Amino acid sequence: MSTAAALRGFSASTDKNVLKHYMSLDQPDDKVMCEYLWIDGTGEGIRSKCRTLDFEPQKPEDCPVWNYDGSSTYQAEGSNSDMYIYPRAIFRDPFRRGKNKLVLCEVFKYNNQPADTNNRMTCAKAMEAAKDSHPWFGIEQEYTLLDFDGYPFGWPKNGYPGPQGPYYCGVGANKVYGRDIVEAHYRACLYAGVKVAGCNAEVMPGQWEFQVGPCEGIEMGDHLWIGRYLLYRVAEDFGVNATLDPKPMEGDWNGAGAHCNYSTLPMRQSGGIKEIETAIDKLSKNHVRHIRAYDPKEGKDNARRLTGLHETSSIHDFSAGIANRGASIRIPRQVAEEGHGYLEDRRPSSNCDPYTVTEVIVQTTVLDK
Ligand code: ADP
Ligand code: MN
Ligand code: MN
Ligand code: MN
Repeated sequence: MSTAAALRGFSASTDKNVLKHYMSLDQPDDKVMCEYLWIDGTGEGIRSKCRTLDFEPQKPEDCPVWNYDGSSTYQAEGSNSDMYIYPRAIFRDPFRRGKNKLVLCEVFKYNNQPADTNNRMTCAKAMEAAKDSHPWFGIEQEYTLLDFDGYPFGWPKNGYPGPQGPYYCGVGANKVYGRDIVEAHYRACLYAGVKVAGCNAEVMPGQWEFQVGPCEGIEMGDHLWIGRYLLYRVAEDFGVNATLDPKPMEGDWNGAGAHCNYSTLPMRQSGGIKEIETAIDKLSKNHVRHIRAYDPKEGKDNARRLTGLHETSSIHDFSAGIANRGASIRIPRQVAEEGHGYLEDRRPSSNCDPYTVTEVIVQTTVLDK
């Protein structure tokens, strides 16, 4: 147990130095540990379990279809509880290393219909239909580190840190809390093969962001979900919780979003700003539909965050502007100057399902559905 954990009277942690011995034991050449991951019935939680394969899988189809008990994941009745998991993407396992893998799966019910929170299947169909437009996405995943008492990590226990201002992209022990976790997570993403693009400390102390992208099509959701799993898992090792709650602290504290940067091939080419404007026009006519798709509670979570304050737009209005961080859609200044590039949809909530977000963007702007 760490000293900090002991002082809190929390005893469920173990000594990571003892673990090191076992993790350094030779692993037989023909035994590969595969951690199967899937999304549970909340649409936000990630579950996983491990199995041994006697070969190294090279692609998802090499991994056998498996099953689990859906009555324990808010997905099925106990009397008919088997859920099937179909491997869809493989990543390297930064915890076990070697040939070991993380296997991201899609969930299907006993009758072979997709589970209610399997949003990947329809997303993949939309991305296939839109593939000639080569849709690229980059999601900025904001999150908050919490201590075991549910209070933000590093905050004074009987009060609040000083007001927002010095913390965003800050440095120093009085400005940022939890950098070890952020550093470890970044390296874990790189090792795993997640297309992590960057990271920064956020406006609220204890809040951070990592970006994933650019990713084409279905890859966006796959890589972000694995990035989230790695975050939870790394934070677990440090005895800290990471939450994607879009408004963890009420009051004058920023919430957490998942800005979705988006472009198609025509937008990225010379003169593409016209395409960007056309897309924004279509988005403006589908505001309510997008808000419903941008958090797991169809807008209820985002209602706490999209207040029109704290660098957000009101949930009730659609707006767009160059370099405007108070708008629904922002055109980055550089994009406006160069006349091509991408747009930023600032509305998705931190706990959104990236499959749902990227699907609806492509439906509205490319497929005209
Ligand atoms: P912000 O200025 O809003 O904080 P960030 O630097 O945090 O922006 O994130 C920008 C994101 O945009 C990154 O995830 C990056 O991969 C993504 N991105 C960059 N170019 C494109 C593009 N042409 N299409 C889609 N996404 C892009
Ligand atoms: Mn950012
Ligand atoms: Mn941010
Ligand atoms: Mn942004």
